[in-house]
Amino acid sequence: MRLLLVEDDHLLAESLASQLKKAGFSVEEARTAKEALTLGQQEDIQAAVLDLGLPDGNGLDVLLQWRKKQLEFPVLILTARGNWQDKVNGLKAGADDYLAKPFQTEELLARLNAVLRRSQGRSQSLIKAGHFELDENRQVLKQRDGSEVSLTGTEYRLLHCLMSRPGQIFSKEQLKDQLYSLNESPGDNVIEAYILRLRKILGSQAILTRRGQGYSFNHEV
Ligand code: CA
Repeated sequence: MRLLLVEDDHLLAESLASQLKKAGFSVEEARTAKEALTLGQQEDIQAAVLDLGLPDGNGLDVLLQWRKKQLEFPVLILTARGNWQDKVNGLKAGADDYLAKPFQTEELLARLNAVLRRSQGRSQSLIKAGHFELDENRQVLKQRDGSEVSLTGTEYRLLHCLMSRPGQIFSKEQLKDQLYSLNESPGDNVIEAYILRLRKILGSQAILTRRGQGYSFNHEV
């Protein structure tokens, strides 16, 4: 799942990015309002964390521009502690939630997953497809016999993408976009390799190959 992190404080951005990656996101980083506008429009972003105080402008204007361009991904804004006007203005501008600095990364992750669930029309942190359940909080797959499998970060991200929309076909390019950020350049057969690994875990029928198109999760398994 691709996330845009807009934060001009390098230290904070670096530590957040590494924790978000551990939590299963592929992270694009923007340091300025200009970069944020460009990446928000060009990339297939599923959610954004947006700092309001940026060197070349206000994050609120970025948010307003995104919404004006019909970009509907959920946005969590980072505000200064106690600044209630920022929170109100942010929500009015189309933010889905806010977090006051300084904050615990665990709270950021919990809020982020909550806005993502709402944007996908789910109320639980479990994704169910066929006989399988994916637990977002623990990155664990529950199988039909009740046993649980821990997944690596990449396995989890790939399966999360497929199971979120069972039946939908994802091309290799789309899956690569959700798994890797722009500055990573995975090899051409990396998706095939991970699909193979997931099939070993879930069974060969769980993920279907659509020749020339891509892959889809089989909700009938
Ligand atoms: Ca800032």
